[in-house]
Amino acid sequence: MKTIPRLIIFDLDGTLTESKQPLTEKMAALLARLLAVKPVAIISGGAFSQFLKQVVARLPVDARLSNVYILPTSGAALYEFHNDDWKKIYEERLSEKDKDTIEAAMRAAAEGTGLIDFSKPAYGERIEYRGGQVTLSALGQQAPLELKKEWDPDHAKRHKLQAKLAERLPQFSVGIGGATSIDVSKRGVDKAYGLHKLCERLGVKESDALYIGDELERGGNDEAVYKTDAQTKAVANPAETMHFIETILSGA
Ligand SMILES: [Mg+2]
Repeated sequence: MKTIPRLIIFDLDGTLTESKQPLTEKMAALLARLLAVKPVAIISGGAFSQFLKQVVARLPVDARLSNVYILPTSGAALYEFHNDDWKKIYEERLSEKDKDTIEAAMRAAAEGTGLIDFSKPAYGERIEYRGGQVTLSALGQQAPLELKKEWDPDHAKRHKLQAKLAERLPQFSVGIGGATSIDVSKRGVDKAYGLHKLCERLGVKESDALYIGDELERGGNDEAVYKTDAQTKAVANPAETMHFIETILSGA
């Protein structure tokens, strides 16, 4: 770490938890210790309800929620905890019409690449409208973790889908989401956008913020963060993240 960070920002899936899984008890306890001393933001492609399930519900009851900043849909929205309740601070919503345009492009890209067959059953919906984002999940929203991990281990399928979609949707931002998913949001809305907005709101210099994610490599889900001045820490999995939180706590 260059300087002791004033704000810690985590990716969710693959960093704090396994894909769509709840925080482990150990991770929840560590996060609570971190929250006692620093503001902590979590940014991920999921909807707000997903953060409540995966993160908030698992934190110890005495965790300092006023220090938690939730950025669902890759930074298209920000929620803060005030007066015992979650308040939406902003949301860059896509309209119903945008949603229809994006959905049509997703179906066409799925067919054009031959990577997803919509006539075959899926684990839940393949296309989900999350307000600030539309998400295409190749196997469906509720696909088992093991199947998701097997689907595209080298990112090749997602890169193909992303390229096709970006071609068809130049007016939007198209990014790789989780292990099987592609996220589409308003143009310019991505994790870098969310990070800019949050730092501005908190009056924290971006270089005093630290972003921790498991996909900071080229083409990865956290890559957009390099557009900011934030410090970054790449981790391979939640176990490495826990180790790193310990390091932060020992220096805080
Ligand atoms: Mg991740």
